[in-house]
Amino acid sequence: MDVPTTLIRAVKGTRDLLPPATEVWNSVEAAARAVFRAYNYHEIRTPIFEETQLFARGVGEETDIVTKEMYTFEDRDGSSLALRPECTASVIRAYIEHRLDQRPGVQKLYYLGPMFRRERPQKGRYRQFSQIGAEVLGPPSSGSESPLRDAEILEMLATLLDELGITGWTLELNSVGSLADRARYNEVLRTALDSVVLGMCQDCQRRAVTNPLRVLDCKVPADQPIIETLPVIADSLDEASRAHFAQVTAALDAAQVPYTLNHRLVRGLDYYTRTTFEFTHGGLGAQNALLGGGRYDGLSEAIGGPKAPGIGFAMGEDRLVLSLLAAQDQKAAPLKADAFIAPLGETLNPAALVLARELRHKGLWIELGEGSFRLKKSFEAAEKTAGRIVILGEDELQSGILTVKTFATGIQTKVPRAELAAFLAEPAKG
Ligand code: AMP
Repeated sequence: MDVPTTLIRAVKGTRDLLPPATEVWNSVEAAARAVFRAYNYHEIRTPIFEETQLFARGVGEETDIVTKEMYTFEDRDGSSLALRPECTASVIRAYIEHRLDQRPGVQKLYYLGPMFRRERPQKGRYRQFSQIGAEVLGPPSSGSESPLRDAEILEMLATLLDELGITGWTLELNSVGSLADRARYNEVLRTALDSVVLGMCQDCQRRAVTNPLRVLDCKVPADQPIIETLPVIADSLDEASRAHFAQVTAALDAAQVPYTLNHRLVRGLDYYTRTTFEFTHGGLGAQNALLGGGRYDGLSEAIGGPKAPGIGFAMGEDRLVLSLLAAQDQKAAPLKADAFIAPLGETLNPAALVLARELRHKGLWIELGEGSFRLKKSFEAAEKTAGRIVILGEDELQSGILTVKTFATGIQTKVPRAELAAFLAEPAKG
């Protein structure tokens, strides 16, 4: 007797991406690669798992990502490994390991691929998700600290979103200053919180002690009026950090990239210095951040490398695709081949394969039918999967004149084999 088996499903928080949605993913990736090329970025591919301590040091021991969300496991030799929750730490590790600081100029590296965080899944938030990101870094002598690098990367992102057809994005910008500025601001905040924190949520009461800056991330509605009264980080920046930020905004103004200043944008990762930013999109609901990033001037040293100031971002590809699909009414356009070749009888199967090959080699998108199908069944299959049907019977094979029906118009045409590719390349409009 058969033992009933339970259906195995994809693990919670992970998903299968199916056609036609994968077409949208591919077009997003192609557009990103084209924009990266124009800005002289080159691809880096790093492993999906790393030593756990890389993320502990590179992302921050105290961050939610490291304390609560990382998929960490013990390898058979007892070492602790983690699925990457983000890619910046890996890129910096590779930069240090392969001595990329010895290469001329700033390094401009981009990546795309899956990241893993054990978050509570919801629309736009998954446990395996994809990021497209980039980093610009190099020794200080390469100009990697320049505010122009910050402005360039922001202008590139504005271009990429426009290129993708994402309208209505907002760029939120802030400066969190140097590590010393941040330490000073943390003290100012700690003092300011002393008198108000008892009226705030439990998390904020804990943060007020451990890391006051994180209070600014609080989403609890009742805490918001209190947070609005707290001192802002801009007032704790030293002269150099102020000047840096002023040059970033001046370059953005010159390039006409719109932005809004958000004093509360301190971001979840510990390593940010100076410029931090987020691009948000109204159509995304609660998870409205499309991408985020910032400058991380001390990160390389934190991982044990040479001084390598830099700036980078990571864009949530899942959310990008969601906003594109929202613009198309949630559905990717159905996929239709240029033509469906219908052999009339099984003896014509080999000739149909040859004809399909001929057309495919000319760049056409061809679906191949099956000679055992009756003509009616071929028509039904063709109409669902292709814009046209090409009928291949004995007569057509001998005469070299094929019958083509264009579904959008219902018109049937006789086309000589030599002209078939050109005919099929014409759009099948109704
Ligand atoms: P972060 O590395 O946290 O700055 O995230 C950068 C971007 O990645 C965010 O703006 C999101 O678009 C995306 N992202 C982060 N976490 C998730 C997740 N769990 N699911 C889907 N996208 C995510």
